[in-house]
Amino acid sequence: MGKITTEARRRPRAAQLLLSLALRALNTVQRSALIQILSAFKSVATATMEVELFTLPTRLRLRQRAQITIVNLLTLPWDHPIQGVLLRARRRRDNGGNGSGPRFPLAEAMKTMSLEQFSGLETINPKPTAPWKLPAFKEIDINPDREKARKNAASLLANPHQVVYSDALGHDNHLGAAAVVLDRNQNIVVSRKMAIGPMAHWSIHIAELIGVYYAISLALKIFHQNGQSTRPGAGEAITILSDSKSAIQAIKNPRNTSGQRVIEAINQSAYELDSRGIPLRLQWIPGHCDDPGNDAADCLAKAAVGPTKIHPFCRPVSREKAAIRRQILKEWEDEWKTSNKGTHLRRIDTKLPAIRSRRLYQSLPRNRAYLLTQLRTGHSWLATHGKALRHREDDKCECGAKETVVHILIDCPRLTTERQRLRKEAGDAFGNVSLMLGAKGQGITSSSAPGGILDAVLDFAEASQRFCSRGPKDPQQQNPRQRPTTGP
Ligand SMILES: [Zn+2]
Repeated sequence: MGKITTEARRRPRAAQLLLSLALRALNTVQRSALIQILSAFKSVATATMEVELFTLPTRLRLRQRAQITIVNLLTLPWDHPIQGVLLRARRRRDNGGNGSGPRFPLAEAMKTMSLEQFSGLETINPKPTAPWKLPAFKEIDINPDREKARKNAASLLANPHQVVYSDALGHDNHLGAAAVVLDRNQNIVVSRKMAIGPMAHWSIHIAELIGVYYAISLALKIFHQNGQSTRPGAGEAITILSDSKSAIQAIKNPRNTSGQRVIEAINQSAYELDSRGIPLRLQWIPGHCDDPGNDAADCLAKAAVGPTKIHPFCRPVSREKAAIRRQILKEWEDEWKTSNKGTHLRRIDTKLPAIRSRRLYQSLPRNRAYLLTQLRTGHSWLATHGKALRHREDDKCECGAKETVVHILIDCPRLTTERQRLRKEAGDAFGNVSLMLGAKGQGITSSSAPGGILDAVLDFAEASQRFCSRGPKDPQQQNPRQRPTTGP
């Protein structure tokens, strides 16, 4: 009995070991790539380079991938074969922790998230739509010319009983949608408005689609009303106007993605109306173009905004995936805040990780990236770093002062001539090393764009000749990634 327990305990430990080995291998690959992209010194910590290039640490990236995959699986229909596997993984997760039996990667990944928060999530059918299915709308009109689209919409005002306007908007972190029909005097004949829910769970795109869905129900209503007074001629279409290009495009080309059920409901209703002799058109109207119908729908949607949804649709998976990404990013931020790596970078750029720092490198040739990495990470050919790595005895500049990035950029008297253009280019930002090296600053104006300052900084760094190899005397100091300081 005792033997079995030991055996059972050993197996998960072996699995854990395998996972950490795999992670270590992936880390090595990621690190090599980061060094290559940044042309960084080998002494720079992986965590620092990851932050500098806005590249998720391997461990977090794997977890993010696993969680997003699980959420995608949760959206599959109840009769999909994967559901059985999900159920077993879920049971394993709940009974897990006693360490018996082999590890089930899906169950392990499920332990890192709360699955309960995903109840009430939309279903996405992975099957392709039948190619022989006829389009539900008689016409879908998205005029690429904004002015023409506005005029086309305005011309519909002549027949207000055949137009339904739909719109959606967000306000105070909540969403609302509305549909409205006007009369000739631009008074509201009939309307519907509905709260969609909080923006944390609902997107404006889905809200716009729900607006179109309710516009169809209004189309049916006005058709009956018209029938008693001025019934339109047989086959005359009712137009639904929406200012959301993305929603109209999604209806035009339905795909197996988030919002599929709303689009299905829209098409289903459109088919039903068509079968009753009420063909529908869908048309784009530019938003905020002073169209009375669009404005009325906008107003009603604003009045409808609220936290409690009053429509039958399930939460879209797109928002949940965004929430997972946000959560992982936050974890990374916290890790970076408490890490003891990258002291120099942290001092220069306080608001990292951010995509901004990666963009600094995007347009730079290698020899320029080589300079920028030295300036921002502090791992450079300067004497202070050489001394820190015990490559040299002192940390002194030619002028006798401590040779730091700040000293070279701002103070060193030996570089006054080279510094003239930099001073001029940087304007008020001169002296603020963070701002000069691409960090986000507030309240400081400079004579040129931030990119211009950075360009001048790199020109200066190149002219100073302090950031090129100083190691020919000692082969250990040779950096294999050293590039000539001119030309890409
Ligand atoms: Zn000096």
